[in-house]
Amino acid sequence: MAQDTIGKEIEKRLSWQVKNAWDKMSEEDKKKTMAFAEEYKQFLNQAKTEREAVNVMVAELEARGFKDLKTASQGLKPGDKFYIVNRDKMLVAGVLGSEPLTAGVRIVGSHVDAPRLDGKPNPIYESCGFALFKTHYYGGIKKYQWPGIPLALHGVVVTDKGEKINLTIGEKPEDPVFTIPDLLPHLAKDQMKKTMAEGVAGESLNLLLATIPHADEEVKERVKLTVLEYLAGTYGLVEEDLVSAEIEIVPAGEARDVGLDRSMVGFYGQDDRICVFASFKAILAIDKPQKTAIAFFSDKEEIGSTGNTGAQSRFLEYVIAKLCALSNLERIDTLLEVLNNSEALSADTTAALDPNYEEVSDRQNSAWLGKGVVLTKYTGARGKYDANDAHAEYVGKIRRLFNQAGVAWQIGELGKVDQGGGGTIAQYLANQGIETIDCGPALLGLHSPFEVASKADLYMSYKAYKAFFQ
Ligand code: MN
Ligand code: MN
Repeated sequence: MAQDTIGKEIEKRLSWQVKNAWDKMSEEDKKKTMAFAEEYKQFLNQAKTEREAVNVMVAELEARGFKDLKTASQGLKPGDKFYIVNRDKMLVAGVLGSEPLTAGVRIVGSHVDAPRLDGKPNPIYESCGFALFKTHYYGGIKKYQWPGIPLALHGVVVTDKGEKINLTIGEKPEDPVFTIPDLLPHLAKDQMKKTMAEGVAGESLNLLLATIPHADEEVKERVKLTVLEYLAGTYGLVEEDLVSAEIEIVPAGEARDVGLDRSMVGFYGQDDRICVFASFKAILAIDKPQKTAIAFFSDKEEIGSTGNTGAQSRFLEYVIAKLCALSNLERIDTLLEVLNNSEALSADTTAALDPNYEEVSDRQNSAWLGKGVVLTKYTGARGKYDANDAHAEYVGKIRRLFNQAGVAWQIGELGKVDQGGGGTIAQYLANQGIETIDCGPALLGLHSPFEVASKADLYMSYKAYKAFFQ
């Protein structure tokens, strides 16, 4: 082989090239990556809402001997595994470390919610011979992506008697699905002149429910009555029950491999259930960490981490205070000391460089699909507004950790400076005194009904979270 010129040799030593993660993997690693993705697809199929994600994980935690902190008693010891659920929508799972809590804990925080359509509180109506279902979208969706696809309904309804009824319609092969019919191009002259934000109005995202009228012609809204009769007959519900309900409309169907080489996974909800799955598998793989390891699964990220199940709530503090109390640490300043000495990875997805829309990204500061887990120093928009800008010292520490652990990683910014931006739970973790950096895989088609992830990035995210916990 020809020898490098002096310049080439210097370049090799000094410059930084992020390699493709597949290039760095052994055949063994590639097999593990593919097998990991099979489990991941199952998880995506089972966990289409925040409640379902929490339920799936709690079942697994209990099977693995994690103890519910709500019923735990004094005397927690290193190696003890625990979990705690907040209102069926938020979950904390962890393993107690050998070092005291005051040395700080290590948190990987992701979110279990995803953009979707929610049922309005009074959703059912009749128009033009159809019974329909009104929705109010949740999170940052592009509204035009939701008509013309099969949709499923996942929800809970609380009756007047306080009974909680779960319903899922549209997932089994024998189930019906729902859809929002799109306007035909033949009659879309006016619509096509509108901006993409206005082309499909929020108030037109109404699902088809039924068309067969009730037999009694004396009734004014006969198709609506068909629906009400069905809900009463099948679930014992009356219309007023839908006021105390959470009905989420999500794409029907299952996760699929994408591409001839099957290197990618395509499906709804990967922001942020790809990080949920990777960090969940990482916490399951941890046995005796030095520092207490905590996987934190929050809700409501897509609408600003608000509410008592969002990352702005004080639930994480409550859990750490509880851990302190159960470990006989009761000084008043202990909780703040633990938080201030703690470190976190805000496990969330970012945008991958899109070959069809290259112009929105700065190539050399953009994340690439398949180049490994992405460290994002700051998110925010237009001048880093609302960002947690991770400190250089902490970025250095995490970079060193990943290099030592053989994690394929890259650095990424969410698009060009003036193009837009986004947020994660990073700022809310950091507000509590916790060192925080964003760290998760990049996706294509983020927030769409069919997001695309690289299996290599999924596996590298798992490796990254595991290395961080250890
Ligand atoms: Mn996210
Ligand atoms: Mn998001």
